[in-house]
This record gives sequence, structure tokens and C-alpha cells, in this order.
Amino acid sequence: MTVIGIDLGTSNSCVAVYRKDQVEIIPNDQGERVTPSWVSFTDDGRLIGNVAKQEVSTNFDRTLFQIKRLIGRTYDDPMVQADMKLWGFSLINDDNKPKISIEYQGRPKIFDPEEISAMILESLKTAAEERLDVTITDAVITVPAYFNNTQRNATIDAGRIAGLNVLRVINEPTAAAIAYGLEKKTNEEQNVLIFDLGGGTFDVTIVKIKNKIFDVRATGGDTHLGGDDFDNRMVNHFISEFNRKNDCDMSQNKRGIYRLRIACENAKKRLSTATNTTVQVDGLHNGIDFKSSITRAKFEVLNREYFENTIKTVKDALSSAAMDKSEIDKVVLVGGSTRIPKVRNLLQDFFGEKKINKTINPDEAVANGAAALASNMSNSGLSGIKDLKISDVVPLSLGWKDGGGDMITVVKRNTKIPTKKWNRNQTSKDYQTESTFCIYEGERAAAKDNHFLGMFCVKGIPAALRGVEKFKTCFIVDENGILTVTSRNVSTGKENQITIDNSGKLSEREIKRMIEDAKRFKQDDIEWKERSEQVHKLENSVYAVKHAVTGEMSHNCSDTDKKQIIENCEEIINWLRDNRNPQILDSKKKMADLEKICRPIFENIRDGSEILRIFQK
Ligand code: ADP
Ligand code: MG
Repeated sequence: MTVIGIDLGTSNSCVAVYRKDQVEIIPNDQGERVTPSWVSFTDDGRLIGNVAKQEVSTNFDRTLFQIKRLIGRTYDDPMVQADMKLWGFSLINDDNKPKISIEYQGRPKIFDPEEISAMILESLKTAAEERLDVTITDAVITVPAYFNNTQRNATIDAGRIAGLNVLRVINEPTAAAIAYGLEKKTNEEQNVLIFDLGGGTFDVTIVKIKNKIFDVRATGGDTHLGGDDFDNRMVNHFISEFNRKNDCDMSQNKRGIYRLRIACENAKKRLSTATNTTVQVDGLHNGIDFKSSITRAKFEVLNREYFENTIKTVKDALSSAAMDKSEIDKVVLVGGSTRIPKVRNLLQDFFGEKKINKTINPDEAVANGAAALASNMSNSGLSGIKDLKISDVVPLSLGWKDGGGDMITVVKRNTKIPTKKWNRNQTSKDYQTESTFCIYEGERAAAKDNHFLGMFCVKGIPAALRGVEKFKTCFIVDENGILTVTSRNVSTGKENQITIDNSGKLSEREIKRMIEDAKRFKQDDIEWKERSEQVHKLENSVYAVKHAVTGEMSHNCSDTDKKQIIENCEEIINWLRDNRNPQILDSKKKMADLEKICRPIFENIRDGSEILRIFQK
């Protein structure tokens, strides 16, 4: 059984497989080793990856990106509210779940974020199936260490919609640690700090590695910090400059701002090697061109607090692990934004240059580790991977809200998973016959300042004075980091439980519907490809025939024949111009008509059979 590992990133995704005793990154159908996590819906069909990314300026409201920022979040989440202001596509509020609303094939279509992530997963799965020539059903998918329950569940659902059985969701930095640990090939114990700064999220994880045992000591980070934020700072800088210079206000021009953002992202990447660069967007706003330059130093000033905060997070992670920086043996850089020289310099200043690993590919490490774990879990018994052991931790404290609104922490952050923790509590009011448990995650003392995960109610409690009836509450976190809470009334044995998945969780019925939809989309894609291949063939043939009779074979043909062929060719060329995406049968018919006219003529002229070869199937 072949099992793949997938890094489903906010900006880029990557798929890998472990075979012949090593990890192999699987390129997409365009030969790229990482696939931008972009999906674009055009009049002709659906595009995924770089081709979708290129659509953004012409197909702004139907090109989707950064969808992982929506995964498992509610519509009223301040981050969702802030993000949607920057996007060209629209969100709707469906019972406080953000959904994506676009027009597809002339009709409005609403997508759950899971469905869009599923499209990316499905395209990676297909790439792997084509490359390896097997059917793939199982995968390990990575998530940021800081993803909460809801986000993890939503990722598993996305996998199911894509037709994948998700064997495990594993934290991205842990996967990167596996990639590092397997590459290192020594058995001595090492403490490794994984510093993963991508497009949308930032994770720091400290892992102790010994003999293929990966023991996560602490994890920390920010679910909303990455390269996109650095781009935003530059965009805002240039918007003010543009407004000032031209005495205008382009802040409502979303499309213009997006074009500027693309230019800024490219400039940012150039600044990782050059010390200054130019940013240029023609006709940015009201037809006015924009051209300016920026130095690396200015870029660093614009983002100084972001960059410095990354070191603060590193310090927090060290203190959670009760470690001094001198105990860290290696710092592994993961994510595209670790190419920024300032980020590297800050890390070098903090840890010393020798400790920074430079051999691991920051774009591929996560998929690489996921593939190794996938192979390990599929029991294929491959020698190098057999005895991999991972022990991960809970990224945020888990607990419940007591009568006074305090957060009662049951599972402390950085507790090893899987874990099971008990807590005892009692009724808080006289003659209370039911008790509601509200579950939260986070570090703040008041439950309301933490993230609400879900609630459930234990009913049928014997009426008694406050404090008489007791409950035993159990928090279980499985190896995927998914939490189940059970509470039992001690005197009656009555219990209730909740697997935390929040209100946004998809129902089985919804998932089934989405699986069907995903299949339909795939079929649409196949048909679209066939259609465009047929059109391409017709177009090639018609020009080949036309060029032959007007060029090299012009003398071998009678004028009447020539006229008839040219007229037919012109007719087809016009038809192709007016029908951008014709039905396969129509294109085939045009091809047959053309052949019918050409065959008797070309059969009788010198070298004519050369041309007729284009009609062969
Ligand atoms: P994610 O894990 O969020 O999908 P990636 O690890 O692929 O993200 O990183 C993508 C981010 O890295 C983007 O913001 C991109 O602009 C940034 N990036 C990629 N290459 C460079 C570079 N050479 N210099 C600076 N930033 C870069
Ligand atoms: Mg990543």
C-alpha cells in the first residue's frame, strides 16, 4: 500500500512519498515540486496551482488563495474579518461559518473552505497517482502545531472530501524534525529547534531526537504571522506613497491593491538576495502608473517588530521546554520566509552561526517528514523508517469554564499526547438538575478571553444542595490532537460527552455531498482537458492544411481545389474564434468535414499524404 505525505500550506503545498529507502518529492503536472495553494474558476474550468495564481489580476473575484486561514474559523473571528478585506473573492456568513461565494459556469456557487482545500489535496493525490502508477487512498497531512481542534478536524474533513483516508494529522514542525532526524543519520541525542516561518503561520517547536525517537518538548507560535504580513507592510507603505504623490485615495481599489501586492511579494523575494529593488505597476489606479524603489534596510524597518517578535516566540518556547539556548544543538529553518536575511541574522545572533542548519530544503522538509511517517504507519516495513516514534504535545491549555467564569485548566499546554486527564467538580447552585460544561483552549485566566471549543450538558442530576452532586470530567486528547471531553455524574452514573469539533463541523451528509461534488469537478476537468485537446488538434490541422495549400503545395493544387480548401479552413478558423470551448463532438465533426474535403484532393497530389497524416487518430 502506498501512503503519501502532504504539506497542505497556506501559500504552498507539497506531496512526497517514501520509496526505495528514501523520500521522493512528487512534482505536479507542471513539473514543479511545490504547488501554490491557489484555485481559480474560469469560464472554461477550474485551475489549481501556479496557473491559478497567474489568473489573479484578470480573474480577481474567482481566484481563491490563503483558504487555510479560514479553515476551522468562525465568520466573526477578527482574523477572518481582517483577511476578507484584502481578498478579491467574497465570503458569506452561513450560521457563523465563513463560506466562499463565486460564480461558476454562469451560476452562483458556495464552497466551504474544506472543499477548496480538498481540491488542492486532490490535485496532489492525482499527481502522486500518475507518478507512481497506483491508486492512493491513505495520507498523512500536516497542520501548524498551533492549529486547534476545529482546524484539525476541518483538515481531516478536507482529506475525506478529496477521497483520502487521513491516517494522521501531524504538526508541521514535527514533520520537519523527522526530515532532519532521518537526514542526520547519527544516533546521538540532539535538541533541535524547528523555526517554521511560512506565508501565513509561524511555528517554533523544540524536539529532542534520539534513535528515531522524536520527543516534542515544547511548541509555540502565531497562527497569523508570515510572509503575507511582510507583504502587507510593504503594500501599505507604497499605498501611502502613491496617495501622497498623486493626491488620491486608492485604499478602496481592491484589484489595484492586489496587483501591487503581487509586485511587492516579488520585490520582497528579490530583497533576500539584492539590497534594493524596484516595484512597478502600470495603470495602478485611475490609469496612473506606479514606480518606486525599496531597499532591504527599509523593508527591515517596516517589519522590524514582526521579525523581533519571532525571537520572542523562540524564547517563550525555550522557557516552556525549560531549556537554555545553549542546550539547542541545531536550528532547522523551514518555510519560504526563512530566506529573509534579517530573520536568519537574528537567529544567528541569538544561537550562533554554527547552529543554523543549511542542508534541509525549507520548502520540502514538512512534506518530506510527513511521507516518512506515512510510510512508517503503512507498515510497509521499510528498513530506514521502521522504528520511528513520535511523541507530540498539546499546543494550548485545555479546560472548562466554572460558575464564576474562570478557566479551569485540565490539560496544560505542552502536555504530551495522547493524554487522558481527570478533573473533579460539583454543582454550583442549589437544586440544580443539569450542568452545562463549556470547553475552552488558551492561556488566559478568564475563560471568555480564551477560544471557545464547544459545550455539552449532563442532565438528570438529583436535586440537592450546591456542592453535593459531584462530577468526574475526563479530557482525552488523541494522537491527532483531537479532544474528547466526558463528564459523569458520580451518584447517577449519567454522563455526556463531546468530541470537540465546534458548530462549523461538517455533517456526514455534507461530506458525502462534497465528495460527489469533488468527483463532478474532477470529471469537468477531464472533459475540459479533452475538449481543449480536441480544439488544439483541430486548430493545428486547419492551419497545417491552409499553410500547405497556400505555401509549399500551392503549385500542386488546382485553383478550384485550393479555393474550396481555403474557404473551409477560414470557416473553421472563424468558428473556433466564436466558440471558445466547443463540445468535443462539434470539434470532431469539423475535423471530419475538413478531412472529407482534403482527402480526395491531397491523395492525388505529390507529398499530399504527408498532410493527410494529421487526420490519423
Ligand atoms: P506556507 O507554509 O504558509 O504555505 P511557505 O513556506 O511556502 O508558506 O512560504 C511562503 C512564503 O515565503 C510567502 O510569503 C513567500 O513570499 C515567502 N518567500 C518565498 N521565497 C522567499 C524569499 N526568497 N525571500 C523572502 N520570502 C520568500
Ligand atoms: Mg508551511
